[in-house]
Amino acid sequence: MSEFDLVIKNGTLVDPERNQMTVGHIGINGGKIAAITRDEIQGKKEIDAALNIVSPGFIDIHAHIDGYLYSAQCAVLQGITTSVGGNCGFGVFNLDRFFDELGSRKFPLNQAMMIGHSTLRQEVGVTNPYEAASKEQVKKMISLLEIAFAQGAIGLSFGLEYSPGTSFDEVLALSQIAAKYDKLVAVHTRTDSWAGIGAVKEVVRITELTGARVQVSHLVYQVGMGMMTEALEVLNEAVEKGLNLSADSGMYHAFGTFIGSTVYNEGCLEKWGCDYSNLFVATGKYAGQRCNREIYDELRANYKDDVVVAFACKEAEVYEALLPKYVMVSTDGAVGSPKPGTGHPQDVGTYPRFFQKMVREQGRISLLEAVRKCTLLPAHRLGLHNKGRLKLGCDADIVVFDLNRITDRSNYPGTGQPDTPPEGIDYVIVNGEVVVESEKLQVNILPGKPIRDELEFWSWF
Ligand SMILES: [Zn+2]
Repeated sequence: MSEFDLVIKNGTLVDPERNQMTVGHIGINGGKIAAITRDEIQGKKEIDAALNIVSPGFIDIHAHIDGYLYSAQCAVLQGITTSVGGNCGFGVFNLDRFFDELGSRKFPLNQAMMIGHSTLRQEVGVTNPYEAASKEQVKKMISLLEIAFAQGAIGLSFGLEYSPGTSFDEVLALSQIAAKYDKLVAVHTRTDSWAGIGAVKEVVRITELTGARVQVSHLVYQVGMGMMTEALEVLNEAVEKGLNLSADSGMYHAFGTFIGSTVYNEGCLEKWGCDYSNLFVATGKYAGQRCNREIYDELRANYKDDVVVAFACKEAEVYEALLPKYVMVSTDGAVGSPKPGTGHPQDVGTYPRFFQKMVREQGRISLLEAVRKCTLLPAHRLGLHNKGRLKLGCDADIVVFDLNRITDRSNYPGTGQPDTPPEGIDYVIVNGEVVVESEKLQVNILPGKPIRDELEFWSWF
């Protein structure tokens, strides 16, 4: 009998591509899935997964880890094996250098990167977020965007709420280039709350006019303040019409972002129906404290990059957002590269909380559908053909978890620890290597790879 590098035995294998669950063994060789069988197989290392779920590794389509080690460690503890960075319009510009550096220093998980629109704006000298780029500047951005795609960017991200001066034509011109190279366009919409419905319609219009693959980012953080049903109606109608549109959303009703950003401009509290005490400081000098007018003013003036969490959304809309077929789970994690003990519970708890709440406690989504939303659906949207499935030859990115125990134990700064690891995620395997073993992070195991997306040229016929 031949011996595999690693064998996962007796687990309940969940494969969203075949839409099947069965009990069996997985053999892994050279970082790839080499056997899926009920025959007895042996491995140099073996994991007993009896009564546990064996799923493809979770693919987080929206995060801000961007090569930051501590947040990557939090992410693998919640079952994420591939993280997409460069979201919300910002991130790294020189992706060649970024991927080379990441590859040489090693990393716990696979890292893909979008190229951010606000980053491109900065590169061509648009420094005022309330200003539209000139025709000349848009031209320059287009050529930089093509370079970023050639360097392996997996898509283009917009953070329109952070650069409200961006003209519709600017969005259109760049999205057209993404469509030409068949790259995903991820949009953090122009505004939230009731006006956010119009902002979702703008995204639908971009999809319609360019034919690009488009993703609405962290849906609940944009329209989870009481208007989720209306926003989903807009999206449902667009998807039913055949537009190439999808969305992602997280598991918390409070979002975190930089206090100095446009999101926290005067008037935000009225818009959300909140007051200062609904804001919690997540990083920096006042981490763990509730805001008041004085703290808000001081942070806005002097600590613009501190992250503040706003309890602006409704919990029921967290769940509502994740029901449609085209919506997948994402974390929006690692905003502001939080130090240990600070940050947002989404950094370590999103996926466990999804299975805990929506599958086990509420029974609103079947296990198969839940796994699909964390694996195959993002893989499809990103064009990752070797991930998101349990299939021979695919990358051995795998999560082993106990559906009866899986529980998010993280909490908001001030009320608990935002980085307390979850329960019930027993093993996380990245490219065939065990990064989480018996719920414990193996800090020296760093098998993650930079994902440089290839340019695929194709013809219609
Ligand atoms: Zn965002």
